[in-house]
Amino acid sequence: MIKNIAVIPGDGIGEEVVAQTVRVLDAVGEKFGHKFNYTYLEAGGCAIDSTGKPLPEATLEACKKSDSVLLGAVGGPKWDHIPGIRPEQALLGLRGGLGLFANLRPAIMYDQLKEACPLKESIIEGGLNIMIVRELTGGIYFGKSGRSEDGKTGYDVEEYSFYEIERLLRQAAEIAMKRNKHVTVVDKANILETSRMWRECAGKVFADYPEIRVDFLYVDNASMQLVRNPRQFDVIATSNIFGDILSDEASQITGSIGMLPSASLGEGSFGMYEPVHGSAPDIAGKNIANPLATILSGAMMLRYSFGMQAEADAIEAAVGKALDAGCRTADIAGGVTPIGTKEMGDAVIKFL
Ligand code: NAD
Repeated sequence: MIKNIAVIPGDGIGEEVVAQTVRVLDAVGEKFGHKFNYTYLEAGGCAIDSTGKPLPEATLEACKKSDSVLLGAVGGPKWDHIPGIRPEQALLGLRGGLGLFANLRPAIMYDQLKEACPLKESIIEGGLNIMIVRELTGGIYFGKSGRSEDGKTGYDVEEYSFYEIERLLRQAAEIAMKRNKHVTVVDKANILETSRMWRECAGKVFADYPEIRVDFLYVDNASMQLVRNPRQFDVIATSNIFGDILSDEASQITGSIGMLPSASLGEGSFGMYEPVHGSAPDIAGKNIANPLATILSGAMMLRYSFGMQAEADAIEAAVGKALDAGCRTADIAGGVTPIGTKEMGDAVIKFL
């Protein structure tokens, strides 16, 4: 298979972690007989420097022409004080411009890193692998918002259409079909009308997926269950605000921010893949950043955009073997001598 990937290294450690991911993708391509073509593009602070805009039109247009996008991270202190412009505006522009409405944040606890998990061993025994599918472009973050004339009352409106809910739940269903076929819809249907619409819509969508086990949880209960019994979850599907909060909670179960991948999907198979972390200016250019979050984002790209299940599994298994062999960057070293960003890339490629 030939696939065209738009690559946006961005700022700070973005370039370093993306470089290792491209090496890993090439190694997978060689092993399984695929060819990945890369188009390198600018967005974020570096794009402000060269064009005056965080997201040049040429970047967005080139992304639209590609099969998927791999992004490092954007931002840094150098661009913090420019009036009206921030590198992070590139992220919103890309999500909106590319029609990405479903955000996927897996929370995977590797057994080798269980020391970093704040939960008791009895709770996490056997490992954790939860996928949070968050609606990204609707709900209270995009609803009407403002103040009364006297400024003494404020409002933010939660609004969802059946269309927006349905397309998110269908993505969640498709993802569950590639996993353990269990979806938990998280809402607040005892109080919110929009949540009752989520339940109504779920009834319709999941009727098309008889193999999937579906259950519903109120968000307050779900936030409790995530730390009490996280192993009960496979895929969690939820609204923008609930997903924002629950994905941060779930990410803490896994230890380091350097291990967390993410994906943003639109209609069909197109997606943008990036680590959860930022540009980490404090460690940029030192070859000490952990590239695994970005490498695992690359694995998600193969699985969700290119339908390359075995190839994605191979990357994830190689990451597991590198950890088994004791390879650790500084953020997850916990006492052992750390290796560098490039050396972690070498290790993953070796175990592929
Ligand atoms: P950050 O995620 O960049 O860093 C937080 C801490 O985690 C730092 O100590 C950093 O060294 C460490 N860290 C992050 N990634 C790591 C990795 N791969 N390996 C080892 N350690 C890692 O968050 P921040 O410091 O709040 O933000 C820095 C810049 O990044 C800001 O300009 C912010 O706006 C931007 N940012 C961008 C994105 C994005 O591009 N998606 C996301 C978050 C923050």
